[in-house]
Amino acid sequence: MSAPTHLEGHLPADHPLSPRRQYRDLPLIGRSLANYPVKDLWETDFARLPGPLARQRRRARAFAEQHLVPVADELDLAAHLPAGECHPAALEVLREAGRQGWLSYFLPRPLGSMPWRALPYPPIWQCSLIVEEFSRACGGLMLLLSAHHLGAMPLLLSGNVRNILRHLGPVYRSCERGDPHLVAFAITEPGAGSDVEEGEGAARAHPGVVATSTTGGWLLNGRKCFISGGDLARTATVFAALEGEGMESWTCFYVDCAAPGFRVARTELKMGMRASGAAELEFTDLFVPHDRVIGGLRRGWAINRATLNASRIPVAAMGVGFARAATETALDFAKRYTLGGRALIHYQDVQLHLATMVAETRAIRSLVWQEARGAWQPRQLNASMCKFHATDRAQVVCEMAMDLLADHGGLHERKVEKIFRDVRLTRIFEGTNQINRLSLMEDWQDQLLDVDQHMGV
Ligand SMILES: Cc1cc2nc3c(=O)[nH]c(=O)nc-3n(C[C@H](O)[C@H](O)[C@H](O)COP(=O)(O)OP(=O)(O)OC[C@H]3O[C@@H](n4cnc5c(N)ncnc54)[C@H](O)[C@@H]3O)c2cc1C
Repeated sequence: MSAPTHLEGHLPADHPLSPRRQYRDLPLIGRSLANYPVKDLWETDFARLPGPLARQRRRARAFAEQHLVPVADELDLAAHLPAGECHPAALEVLREAGRQGWLSYFLPRPLGSMPWRALPYPPIWQCSLIVEEFSRACGGLMLLLSAHHLGAMPLLLSGNVRNILRHLGPVYRSCERGDPHLVAFAITEPGAGSDVEEGEGAARAHPGVVATSTTGGWLLNGRKCFISGGDLARTATVFAALEGEGMESWTCFYVDCAAPGFRVARTELKMGMRASGAAELEFTDLFVPHDRVIGGLRRGWAINRATLNASRIPVAAMGVGFARAATETALDFAKRYTLGGRALIHYQDVQLHLATMVAETRAIRSLVWQEARGAWQPRQLNASMCKFHATDRAQVVCEMAMDLLADHGGLHERKVEKIFRDVRLTRIFEGTNQINRLSLMEDWQDQLLDVDQHMGV
């Protein structure tokens, strides 16, 4: 049986009525106004990126294909490691990522690895492009690499150049030498998850990690949970309330994870993103000197909110990466799997299904880029909306891939099963999607209360 020359239900490319055939016969000006030769489904968007960002994205994809894809399965299936142990394959990814600059790109050279030409564009935009490529390759390794930037974000956002040079400088240099110094971000507490992501809850919350004043600094006591990369981090930005005060006293401390009083109590065996550990951290009279208070005493809540506003757009980009991976996997399956003597792709209802997946994925990518492009000062309303909508729709796309693969969808080797487990977590972390909806409303409330009193309703 010869290979089909076109999809069933559509004209062959050389048919006299085919748009592509007609396109060839158009005069030059007509051809320049039309665009029929479609290259890669996802590349057409990238043609619209500024050159330096397009280059970063290409490098990220090459790194992901070369270093993340080959070990993604092994790390997903690896036995749950005890706290503090790193799988050799994950360690190698971290080392190489550090050497290639993927752990230090929030500052330009020579402080970091961001190319100078990328400097005119918001770092969140660059980060979103990179995160999309890494998520497409492996959710767990993407989180392992991305949580580090989340951890370092309070140092950057504190606006204190001294902090950046003193603390972040050595972190970046170590990473670039191939000696990965990871930084973790610790806000979640056993009794406070959403409460530390949302104002109204915070106003009522009882802080679990408390800082007590002592000679030369502070003593931290309490526990943080679900801290990504907390098992491997060398330093962490830890948020704590001052003793005897409430959440309004929240302060960001830059903690040395090798200091006495710091302990990784355990790591969770979680449903997805398994290459990244979610650690419970325990602090017992952990000493933090005064000069490791980031952004000033009682400024933690503002730094936390600014950090989340910056990081929620890249979380939305994770959704794009997962939706893209699911769509690509479903497409590949539809081309290879035969039913009733013909490949699935020839059934028009399968084509409708795939077209919806492509459109959903491209739509959330447009949303992410739109928000990321203006993200010099990411606003809560925009970042939260982008995060919940992109990750919700990404989950729908992954669900559609599962539908298409049917019984094959549940098999590990078909990949969709892993993507499905990974994407679900993006709707929980950085604030559940419900909390992000409330964050949108919180930021918008002034306008919502601004009603015309004369209407009398
Ligand atoms: C894979 C992973 C990685 C993570 N990494 C980190 C990390 O690096 N650092 C860190 O600090 N944390 C991290 N977290 C924690 C994460 O941010 C929290 O899990 C998240 O904020 C939700 O908190 P919670 O699980 O305590 O849920 P809860 O706060 O206990 O919420 C339970 C339910 O109640 C709902 N809810 C809560 N309040 C309201 C309300 N006011 N109105 C309506 N509904 C409400 C929530 O939406 C949710 O459905 C991670 C979590 C996961 C799963």
